[in-house]
Order: sequence, then structure tokens, then C-alpha cells
Amino acid sequence: MKCIINRRAQFCASHRYWLPELSETENIQRFGLGSRFPGHGHNYVLYVSLIGELDEYGMVQNLSEVKKVIKREVTSQLDYAYLNEIWSEFQQILPTTENIARVIWQRLAPYLPLVRIQLFEHPELWADYQGNSMEAHLSVSTHFSAAHRLAHPDLSYEENSEIYGKCARPNGHGHNYHLEVTVKGEIDPRTGMIVDLGALHKVIEDYVVEPFDHTFLNKDIPYFAQVVPTAENIAVHIRQLLQQPIQELGAQLYKVKLIESPNNSCEVYCAEPASSSAIARESESLLSSV
Ligand SMILES: [Zn+2]
Ligand SMILES: [Zn+2]
Repeated sequence: MKCIINRRAQFCASHRYWLPELSETENIQRFGLGSRFPGHGHNYVLYVSLIGELDEYGMVQNLSEVKKVIKREVTSQLDYAYLNEIWSEFQQILPTTENIARVIWQRLAPYLPLVRIQLFEHPELWADYQGNSMEAHLSVSTHFSAAHRLAHPDLSYEENSEIYGKCARPNGHGHNYHLEVTVKGEIDPRTGMIVDLGALHKVIEDYVVEPFDHTFLNKDIPYFAQVVPTAENIAVHIRQLLQQPIQELGAQLYKVKLIESPNNSCEVYCAEPASSSAIARESESLLSSV
């Protein structure tokens, strides 16, 4: 029986988005504050996921050995380092979150049966890399507050209460929604980016956060005049809103996760032939991390 195990590690490091072949103006234009001399830092959190059969001791791999390898090959080298210079890989391709995840995969792959590298630059920005050449996933999280009422327009109050319980009460209630948007793309062989992060934030802000924040979804968002704004339907609508603009940025929307409360969340993936197997893989890995 195969199982996935996850090991967490941390390092603090600095970096700078700066390409010497570009002028100062071009660097500022492209990378904004990230281009500032002499750089800035992050407290990175790394999750290394391994897959394998259980051995006679009931383990995929001995975690104390895994810990040693991660420290030797990655964290002892990157901790308190200036990333642009510490590894030669980063002189070729800038140390963005997605590219650091890719290079960490390359460094660990000879020693560990990797299935995924996940790297958080901070709690609202992280990358996933699964060993597919230059392909990576980048996720950002944001939030908005909105009210809604769950009631199907064709049903009576009694019928709606039967289905939606307290959520059908006539004047609605509110949530602080947390939204996670994951995009998929190819890591640029020079900038290390799968998408312009500033442009991605702006798309999410313009198409979702600004129009949804501090609204009564049923009344203020035309889509929800007929569609009941359950978390699932909100996520589906956000997927519709974001798909095209993200494609125009040169990446692909991969997943929308909407967290309605600490107890309720839902995920929708973008339709593609392999999506059901991707979801199956995802739930497999989620189960394994519980
Ligand atoms: Zn940074
Ligand atoms: Zn609700």
C-alpha cells in the first residue's frame, strides 16, 4: 500500500528580483519593489512530500533520515543566505517561490522519493512543484466579507428552511470568506515566474474582491439573482470570472478554493481532460496528510 508522508522545514533567506542585462528602469518596471537594492527577505516554510510503500517498520521512510537529508541538502545551505548567489541555479533563473521549489526538488530528488515540494513565501503565497519539468503551481490567498441567503427562488420559505436550515432566514447572514486561487504555468527560464504576481493580484482584486467585498451577494451580484450563493456556487462563479483574465496573463487557472468558515470550504478545479484524476490525486494526498 502506497502512502504519502509530509515533512516540514523552515529557512530564512533574502533575494532580489534583478536581471543585470536590463536597465534599472526596466528592472523596476518589471519587478517593482522586488528589485530594490540590496534585496529583501522571507521566512520560508517548506513541505517535502514523499511517496512509497510501507517498510517492515510501518514507515515510508525513516523521518529522522528525511530530516537529515533536508537539512544537509537544503536548509543548512539556504538558511540566512542571499538566494541569488548561494546556488548557481539562481544565477540562471531568479529565485522566485516557484523556482526555489523546483530547484529544491532537483536537489532532493537523488535522495528522497519525492511526490511534491510545497514552498510558502508567506502564509498567503505558496508554490507547488511535482517534478514536471518547468511546470509549477502558484497559489495566492486573499479574503472578502459578504452576506448571503440560501433560498431557491422557486421554493416556499418552508421548503427552503427544510433544505438550507438557518441559512434560509429571510434577512441573510455574513461570512469572512477566504479565497485561495491556484494557477498553473511554465516557469520562465530567466525571470523564474509562471505569472506576473502583481498582475495576478490585480485580476483577483478587480474581478472578485472589489465587486464581492461588503455586498449582499444575492442582491448585489447579478449572477446570484437566480443561482443560490452556496460556497460551491460562489466558487464556480469565481472560476468563471477568473479563467479568461488569467489566461491572458499567460497562465492557467487551476483551482479555486473558497473557505466560508473554519468548518466549511470547497474546491473547484478547471475543466481539463485529466481533471478528475488530478482531483483524485489531490484528495489522496489530502487524506494522507490528515
Ligand atoms: Zn520576495
Ligand atoms: Zn452562510
